[in-house]
Amino acid sequence: MIHDFFTLPARSASQIAWPAVPVDFLAEIRMHSRLSWRTALLVLAGAACAGTRPAPETAPAVVAAGAPVAMDTASRPRPYPLFESRSFAQAVERGTRLRTGAPGPRYWQQWSRYAIEATYAPETGLLEGRSTITYINRSPGNLAALYVHLHGNVFAPEAVKNRPVPTSGGVTLTRFAVRGQEMPALSSANPRGYRLNGTVMGIPMSTPLAAGDSVTLEFAWRYTVPPNGAPRGGRDSTVAFVSYWYPQMAVYDDVNGWQIDPYMTNAEFYMGYGDYDVAITLPAGYLIGATGTLRNAEEVLSAATRERLDRARAGDSVVHVVATADQGAGKATAAGRQLTWRFRAERVRDFAWGTSRRYNWDATRAVGGGAAGGGSADTALIHSFWVPQAAANAWAENARYGKFSIEFLSRFLWPYPYPQMTSIQGPPSCGGMEFPMITCIGGSQWETTSMFGVTVHEIGHMWFPMQVGSDEKRHSWQDEGLTQFNEGNAEKAFFNEAESSTILGAQRAYLGLAQSDREVELMRHGDLYPSYGTFGTASYMKPAAILHMLRGMLGEETFMRAYREYGRRWQWKHPTPLDLFNTFDDVAGRDLDWFWRTWFYETWTLDQAVGRVTPSANGTTIVVEDRGLAPMPAEVTVTYDGGRSERLSVPVETWLGGARQATLTAPAGTVTRVEIDAGKFYPDVDRANNLWTGASAASGGSATR
Ligand SMILES: [Zn+2]
Repeated sequence: MIHDFFTLPARSASQIAWPAVPVDFLAEIRMHSRLSWRTALLVLAGAACAGTRPAPETAPAVVAAGAPVAMDTASRPRPYPLFESRSFAQAVERGTRLRTGAPGPRYWQQWSRYAIEATYAPETGLLEGRSTITYINRSPGNLAALYVHLHGNVFAPEAVKNRPVPTSGGVTLTRFAVRGQEMPALSSANPRGYRLNGTVMGIPMSTPLAAGDSVTLEFAWRYTVPPNGAPRGGRDSTVAFVSYWYPQMAVYDDVNGWQIDPYMTNAEFYMGYGDYDVAITLPAGYLIGATGTLRNAEEVLSAATRERLDRARAGDSVVHVVATADQGAGKATAAGRQLTWRFRAERVRDFAWGTSRRYNWDATRAVGGGAAGGGSADTALIHSFWVPQAAANAWAENARYGKFSIEFLSRFLWPYPYPQMTSIQGPPSCGGMEFPMITCIGGSQWETTSMFGVTVHEIGHMWFPMQVGSDEKRHSWQDEGLTQFNEGNAEKAFFNEAESSTILGAQRAYLGLAQSDREVELMRHGDLYPSYGTFGTASYMKPAAILHMLRGMLGEETFMRAYREYGRRWQWKHPTPLDLFNTFDDVAGRDLDWFWRTWFYETWTLDQAVGRVTPSANGTTIVVEDRGLAPMPAEVTVTYDGGRSERLSVPVETWLGGARQATLTAPAGTVTRVEIDAGKFYPDVDRANNLWTGASAASGGSATR
């Protein structure tokens, strides 16, 4: 995601340079809201981008967050089933999707082949490009119009956007042709010309593009890469990260048809798959890290650089392919005035690249991925491009972190399929942003924890949405939430944590907003949130907490089987949320509509509590109360005198039937301790009432923690 400030842990907060917003404002947000630093940053990001100081997301309400409140809970909502949209039902009817959550036998999706040549002038940021898109219509319909994104138009002064960004002029099309025929822009003289509406270009077809047929579109354009301050890319005096820089086909899918929502900076992207041949010409001495594989290393890299790169490919240690002393034309790169770098990328949904003449270049390999294109069967090259600073810098560890990330996620999810993975230092406003096979990480102000966090988060996106190509605009949780969850699991392994601090942090951040009554539900377009804080919570924190909860509820084995099955079914395809929900139902063999409805469509919160605990002749009677609005099964750990414990549970059906209380019997002795959700899987708004330790608790535990 855009800035991914959520990946910054506490101690990096003071290191983030946000002009005109003092760090004590962060403290202010945290104080009022009890939010983590990450979430406070998230709130601040919204504030800073809006250029003003709005009220903090969770400004003091009449009732302080977390304070016990006696609510009328006699009645409770009963989650109703999920309904298919009309278009989803139609897709099922046509056989492109199944109600099991799998693609149907007649699933199809479009394909594009891009050939792009660009010349870049680092001094001015001017990029001049020519490209050809071969668009293959694999749908069963004839297309009377095509749509292309010119994302760079968001930097035109008149573009509609939901935060201020630097204006650098947008994209100037100097030539456009369909099937070799030049097409002008729409005007009274050219009523059949192409139309530009902000970042979206509509192309009327004089003859519709028939099912099974393909068409060639040609473009020539000029684009000035925006300065630092632009989200997800841009340039400063040292580095440039060039993203959303070429005309790109919009997605036409089997459920919703054309998805042509404009790019307004907050909501991210929905991209189709394709193959790319890209040639970039710039002055010798500049290094490039990019999506894809470099095809002409012998033309652009020096012999010494190539030799060190070969060494990186062959071993598990990090090789300094280009160190500070090696920089420059004739040393790191081939000699000459201008060099043309040629890349090829297959089965990707975008192409991005970064460049600097001051990059150090580290490389190593990851084992357990890299099966597709180039490289040996099970390894992927790991690249790290970064600008050395006077002081020691966590970037020096980045290649090692990249290797760990790819290897961990290849085990946790499924093997990384691409031949390489690059992390590259961009201008500070890059924050952390994912692109196929490359992530842009802004600036150098990272220390170990935050550098590992941002690296593994962005590399996590190589699975969602790079391979599992969901619509990030309409359902940002579908890639960000899953990635936040995967990040938490990777950090737990890397830092050897007993419990994932990232996932528990996500629970806390979600609860902080939920208890302020300012939460907004997840099933909402990314451009339609009232603030950046509500967007961030719905897209990152709450869905990560939901997955953790689901894992606790289904059990490790079933959860992981369903999670991976969703990926296997939708790899290089376009799943909707219903496909994810249906896959979990299918694999778990349970109808979980009540769960999806509660957590994705509503803002109901969970509060399970231990009520009366009464010894009797037949054992101890335990009353479990459900005081919240969200129904979940209650998992109750009972500990007896002497330390033995057992698990009892209240099935969710009890609450779905409308009950507020359930009674359990612990038969086996004197009960000293009762705890609901001891594994801390559920985001419970009041943890204090989850625990009963009795009057003479042997554990000596406190009723609060
Ligand atoms: Zn992200």
